[in-house]
Amino acid sequence: MWPRSPHREETTMHDHRRLGRDLDLFDTDPLMGAGLPYWLPDGAVVRHTLEEYVRDAERRAGYRHVYSPVLGKRELYEISGHWAHYSEDMFPPMDLGGEQVVLRPSLCPHHALIYRSRSHSYRELPLRIAELGGMYRSELSGVLGGLTRVRAIHLNDAHIFCTLDQAVEEAAAALRMIGEAYAALGIRPARHRLSLPGPGGKYVADPELWRRASAMLRDVLDRSGIAYEAVEGEAAFYGPKIDVQITDPGGRESTLSTVQIDFHQPERFDLHYIGPDGAKHRPVMVHRSVIGSMERAVAHLIEAHGGAFPAWLAPTQLVILPVSDAEMEHAVRLLRRCLDQGLRARLAAPEEGTLGARVRAARLVPYQAVIGSKEAADDHIALRLRDGRRLDPQPVDEALHHIGDIVARRDTHLWNG
Ligand SMILES: [Zn+2]
Repeated sequence: MWPRSPHREETTMHDHRRLGRDLDLFDTDPLMGAGLPYWLPDGAVVRHTLEEYVRDAERRAGYRHVYSPVLGKRELYEISGHWAHYSEDMFPPMDLGGEQVVLRPSLCPHHALIYRSRSHSYRELPLRIAELGGMYRSELSGVLGGLTRVRAIHLNDAHIFCTLDQAVEEAAAALRMIGEAYAALGIRPARHRLSLPGPGGKYVADPELWRRASAMLRDVLDRSGIAYEAVEGEAAFYGPKIDVQITDPGGRESTLSTVQIDFHQPERFDLHYIGPDGAKHRPVMVHRSVIGSMERAVAHLIEAHGGAFPAWLAPTQLVILPVSDAEMEHAVRLLRRCLDQGLRARLAAPEEGTLGARVRAARLVPYQAVIGSKEAADDHIALRLRDGRRLDPQPVDEALHHIGDIVARRDTHLWNG
């Protein structure tokens, strides 16, 4: 038998599939099907909080949110080019009253149609359309597992319709949003990749389109000062992209976030805007995803933090631990105050075990409030932090306000001061 290296050990410990099951975040059931995970309440809290974060960041950056259906007619993907270049990854079409519909492999064609549904003046540009929407990929059952190899994907997606002159700045702004999100999430990119086409027929043929879009993305990266590697054969079928790469504890690399400049889809969908000259002009489409799919983002967060999420993302932010039944009444009142302040708090009552056992069970909760007779009498709280620090007893209102502030600022530190 081969000895296991410490590296291998860590891989097992921080594997998101194992932690996801141990921490009751998500699971799968053969009756729902492989690659179709469901989210348990604690996992749903993490995902929901992440979705709120990204929608809020997008609103501040001038994006407008839409909803569009997960199905589209086959013709839609024939126009977009997916049918010719991407059908191997798509589910087979369903016959529906004489027409064929497909589970969508991406949101781009729907957003192109939403743009096209109204006429647009140059004054409206850049027009930023965002959606956190479902899409589907017909992965083979042999490669499915956890939250990273799935058939149903919920993508944090957006498309910016803009003039040629605006495209580089819009793509650069998207790259900055990605950097800010990673800081709030406490994660780090492994590297930035400029993904270019390779040999073979899977790319749309238009050398001028590829040359222009690649040059603009290089410009975006050069201006940002971010180091990157250009890699051939990793582009989307319709254009080059900037990929923000992450690695799992086993060292395997994958793409979490992307920024693309696209001349192809606006052509295919015959998109236009009315310029200052009163004539029709072709917009450019910038595709971008700040945190990628909810599935991959949460998988990475689980692995990067070993389940100890930053306080703003933690399923339970504060656990209340009464020493004995005598402090239960006070503990219940404290729980109410925490919930009223918007904190995700829960009570671990003495009937759940010894104080030591309850503290151990709550080891991933950022804040643990032990309530003894003295704290109950003084309306004070003695906080233990997840990192082992123990704070002096302090007035309850002060402590909750401080925690509320850290959560609201999405601070990755547990305590300041
Ligand atoms: Zn897109």
